[in-house]
Amino acid sequence: MAHSQNGWSAGTPTTIGGLDKSPVPGTKIKLPQGVRKGDVATVLLYVAERFHHSVEALHADQCWGYNYRKVRGSESTLSNHASGTAIDLNAPAHPLGKAGTFNAKQVAAIRKILDFCDGAVRWGGDYRTRKDEMHFELIKDASDVALIAKKIHVARADAAAHAKLAETSLLDPATIRRWQQIMHTPADGAIHEPSDLVKAVQRHLNKHGGKLTVDGLGLARGTKTKTVAALQKYLGIRATGILPKGKSATVLTLQKRLNTGTF
Ligand SMILES: [Zn+2]
Repeated sequence: MAHSQNGWSAGTPTTIGGLDKSPVPGTKIKLPQGVRKGDVATVLLYVAERFHHSVEALHADQCWGYNYRKVRGSESTLSNHASGTAIDLNAPAHPLGKAGTFNAKQVAAIRKILDFCDGAVRWGGDYRTRKDEMHFELIKDASDVALIAKKIHVARADAAAHAKLAETSLLDPATIRRWQQIMHTPADGAIHEPSDLVKAVQRHLNKHGGKLTVDGLGLARGTKTKTVAALQKYLGIRATGILPKGKSATVLTLQKRLNTGTF
């Protein structure tokens, strides 16, 4: 099997295990041919996402990924684009061979992204001979790239856990997920029957005089339950025992509580 310059296997999209064509997270920008699926995509799309936010807004149709070709000007060496392990960002503004296309502040922001990736990503602006400032590529093997992908997943989960919950008054998946995170139960954003979250809530309410059976039930919407009544009492609002299907003052109070980071 052929290999690209960085040692990753190169070939057709199928032979390299498929391409991930999802947009750069938080944007509609796509790298038309995508990048290598899995951890490689996690890392390279993360680089593109941070580039978009901290270096320069990405432009549609100016960002590229997989491309089965040789290094420009080389007779034999396959480009890292041929293994789906390189991306080009805002290519026209940062053409191959041109140095100094980013200002000092932008270069500092690029350095921060590279630092986060612990040496797994190289920037074409750091090439000693011919600069390629649009270009970012992986220079480590799969096990190192997996570590960076894991670091990115942790950073994303952490950011999501600290983002302010929208106070919608609705018991939506985001609210359930945050409640689950705070109660240390599996965070899938859904209340099952029975539910680990509801059990944890019932146990907690029992510490506050709830006298509830810990059965993981009782948060069904629209019917009167002891669990809802105890929850309302705990939150300091009128204990009707009913959690309406639509917007509710109980959920709004709950969301405000969860936004303090506790229940
Ligand atoms: Zn490139």
